[in-house]
Amino acid sequence: MTDLNVSEQFHVVGDDIHDDKAPSGPIEGRWDQRKFAATLVNPANRRKLSVIVVGTGLAGASAAATLGEAGYHVKSFCYQDSPRRAHSIAAQGGINAAKNYRNDGDSIYRLFYDTVKGGDFRSRESNSYRLAQVSVNIIDQCVAQGVPFAREYGGLLDNRSFGGVQVSRTFYARGQTGQQLLLGAYQALERQVAAGTVEVNTRHEMLDLIVVDGRARGVVVRDMVTGEIETHLADSVVLATGGYGNVYFLSTNAMGCNVTATWRAHRNGAYFGNPCYTQIHPTCIPVSGDYQSKLTLMSESLRNDGRVWVPKKKGDTRDPRQIPEDERDYYLERRYPAFGNLVPRDIASRAAKTACDEGYGVGPGGLGVYLDFADAIERLGRAAVEAKYGNLFDMYKQITAEDPYEQPMRVYPAIHYTMGGLWVDYDLQSNITGLFVAGEANFSDQGANRLGASALMQGLADGYFVLPNTIANYLAAGPFDPIDETHEAVVAARQRVEERIEKLLAVNGERTVDSFHKELGHIMWEYCGMERTEEGLVKAIGMIRDLKAEFWRNVKVTGANEELNQTLEKAGRVADFFELGELMCIDALHRAESCGGHFRAESQTEDGEALRHDDQFAYVAAWEYGGDKPVLHKEPLEFEYIEMKQRSYK
Ligand SMILES: Cc1cc2nc3c(=O)[nH]c(=O)nc-3n(C[C@H](O)[C@H](O)[C@H](O)COP(=O)(O)OP(=O)(O)OC[C@H]3O[C@@H](n4cnc5c(N)ncnc54)[C@H](O)[C@@H]3O)c2cc1C
Repeated sequence: MTDLNVSEQFHVVGDDIHDDKAPSGPIEGRWDQRKFAATLVNPANRRKLSVIVVGTGLAGASAAATLGEAGYHVKSFCYQDSPRRAHSIAAQGGINAAKNYRNDGDSIYRLFYDTVKGGDFRSRESNSYRLAQVSVNIIDQCVAQGVPFAREYGGLLDNRSFGGVQVSRTFYARGQTGQQLLLGAYQALERQVAAGTVEVNTRHEMLDLIVVDGRARGVVVRDMVTGEIETHLADSVVLATGGYGNVYFLSTNAMGCNVTATWRAHRNGAYFGNPCYTQIHPTCIPVSGDYQSKLTLMSESLRNDGRVWVPKKKGDTRDPRQIPEDERDYYLERRYPAFGNLVPRDIASRAAKTACDEGYGVGPGGLGVYLDFADAIERLGRAAVEAKYGNLFDMYKQITAEDPYEQPMRVYPAIHYTMGGLWVDYDLQSNITGLFVAGEANFSDQGANRLGASALMQGLADGYFVLPNTIANYLAAGPFDPIDETHEAVVAARQRVEERIEKLLAVNGERTVDSFHKELGHIMWEYCGMERTEEGLVKAIGMIRDLKAEFWRNVKVTGANEELNQTLEKAGRVADFFELGELMCIDALHRAESCGGHFRAESQTEDGEALRHDDQFAYVAAWEYGGDKPVLHKEPLEFEYIEMKQRSYK
């Protein structure tokens, strides 16, 4: 256990906070109750109210389209050249919903239960229940939009299983579910563009939040083509800007994913919830060299049919096909007979790490385990396997030059998703009035570990169903006092952005932005990755601070502001990653327990599983910006429906 004095050197403890928006009473009725208690806005008044939505991934596009459809005036922003290129497009495996089409015992309650247990009892019951409730509406909405979900022979929508559950509730469109869902949301968005309710601004990066008299009233953005700095004002602001996994440099996220939007909001006073909760996905294509800038996911859906194993003999370099059955260790099936290959990601990742650390790993450097489809191909036939996973197999072959129909895939854990994010209440409103946060950008309903196929579910739940209700309730008190570009808070925000850009360009040092990012990523992976220790985290904080200081002394940002300048874009993002990385380590250091994806080596059971300390840590850590000494506000978590106990998948 961490000596509290060590962690307290790095932070200050503030007052506890509470989410006062979730109604009490029976959990099944809370969301209905909240919607009924909300103030409505007359349709004729909606066009006088405006909302800025930053982000056009599943969360942002669905929110902007739905708010536009409702009649509000929406301004949407993204940094890509089309809303369709948001990172959500990369999602492969599927989206959960408690439809119980398979009649295998699924229910809203079971999805709720699986989510709370999967998150290792570090999420709010009310939020997780609402997510499970709304999941069934999402599928209907998407089918109505024409999303081509896979169907089984009778014509019904097909389902498969993801980790941490024993039912089949994952809806999918081959290995391209995110793409198909995003096309659905994009069509809905474009319909509103045509109708004149939504204005889309592509290639615009939000670089600061405008807060006027304690209310979020706008954003400062940079036109990424011309470098022009613009301010945009509205009655409320939604951030749906995705996750921050790229703080690790190598991750499965799209190269552009970054923390700037939420970090700038944090610097303006928004609390950051549970920053150290990151998800490491067990089945990614292993790192192949020093010059790599991206990792590739092999979807969790593959664990429906693929079997994970390593040779029983250490350092066995034989061709896997030559290794007889009794010389293989199907370690997930052996250690977790009830869930087998479909244990949750945190557990599967740690088990792979253990196998490799003990010398059983395969491939270059022994950093890999096999994911084998030989049994599935024999049982189902190649055509059936190809129909389910064909595009993933092709992707694997193109990257590794190995054919997974012929030999097992080699996979290793990699950074994939971030459960932490801006703190929000049940209404998805941050502690800054009028600032709402959706999708992966908020600290989410997923606790300390997200179950597979639940991110798409959450993004669309937030955007299509939750925000349109809760923002309406907020906007019912508007329109707020008119402000314009000359308002002192607007001028100050704009000036902050301009000065920071000038500062970055003025350093004119000798090291590239990427070299700093890579070094930061190494520190994060080594000390705040799959396993964390007090000693390592303290060391990491020092290393990050030194590197950050060197960055501001020695980074070289070529080119100018008044042009397309990707080095400048990256430099701003990496500067924010430094500050975030430091906070992640401080959060990980103070949480002297293991839970979900946060594994503290000092806190484990005898058989190496995560050991929580509910008496001390059953809370959300909501961090207030405080420079070198962030302020910790605790939001206690209460469990009325599901008993908190040691998770078991055995
Ligand atoms: C390879 C991969 C596969 C996955 N597969 C699945 C899956 O099968 N099922 C599942 O449930 N989840 C999956 N996930 C997770 C899931 O894809 C994401 O969590 C989810 O798509 C995030 O959606 P989002 O709308 O919150 O953010 P994103 O899709 O990341 O969108 C962020 C948006 O914000 C914009 N933005 C960000 N910062 C700024 C800024 N400063 N200024 C302006 N715009 C900004 C971007 O331009 C973009 O439009 C996968 C993730 C990865 C990496």
